[in-house]
Amino acid sequence: MWIRLLAKTSFFGKNQTKMKYRTYLIFGAPGAGKGTQGKVLGTIPRFFHCACGDVFRSLDTRTPIGQAFLDYSSRGELVPDEITVKLWMAVIGDMVGMHKFKPDLDALILDGIPRNVQQAEIMRDILDVRKVFHLSCPDREALISRLKKRALKENRFDDANEETIRRRLFTYEEESKPVLDFYGPSKVRHIDATQSPVKVTYDILSELITG
Ligand code: ADP
Repeated sequence: MWIRLLAKTSFFGKNQTKMKYRTYLIFGAPGAGKGTQGKVLGTIPRFFHCACGDVFRSLDTRTPIGQAFLDYSSRGELVPDEITVKLWMAVIGDMVGMHKFKPDLDALILDGIPRNVQQAEIMRDILDVRKVFHLSCPDREALISRLKKRALKENRFDDANEETIRRRLFTYEEESKPVLDFYGPSKVRHIDATQSPVKVTYDILSELITG
């Protein structure tokens, strides 16, 4: 309830209480390529990309919320929903305030949030989710090998340890995957994430073009 009040008073303005962000979700297991695709799509005019993981990584780790991110993510767990959605709302509100994200013109490309059904429920009044692009990669070993490579390239501590990686994949199966059922087959599009990045982009663009 508190988040609904927040949405109606702080970020949407008094006259826009009913406005929701037109949103496309990039969804998938860690290592499926959400960030890669989100960044590409975010370069197209009229699309605004926001990755929840990047929001967390940009935090000063000396702050309580930055510390919470370090604690949870290093265990392969999700940061608690209240902290996550509150932070995300504040960041997206700033983006609107700075006119980087123009909700009346731009579609939101969201990656990494909502990441469980409770987050999807909290955000129901905020997001007008048009489609969910599920970057599907049933081969878990392929994901693990991608994440290990990313650990070296991007210096990500949560990708460095195989036990943490396996825990994150488990968290994805248990907590995140049910989000696909929350939005249902009319919105979910399954895209083969084992294809080349350009083919994955092509598949997403084909879906975006049709609405
Ligand atoms: P990946 O999808 O490869 O795991 P992300 O950058 O999306 O990478 O997320 C990194 C970590 O940040 C997650 O393991 C989790 O601890 C935290 N995190 C990101 N998004 C959320 C979210 N919506 N809810 C809770 N925790 C999140």
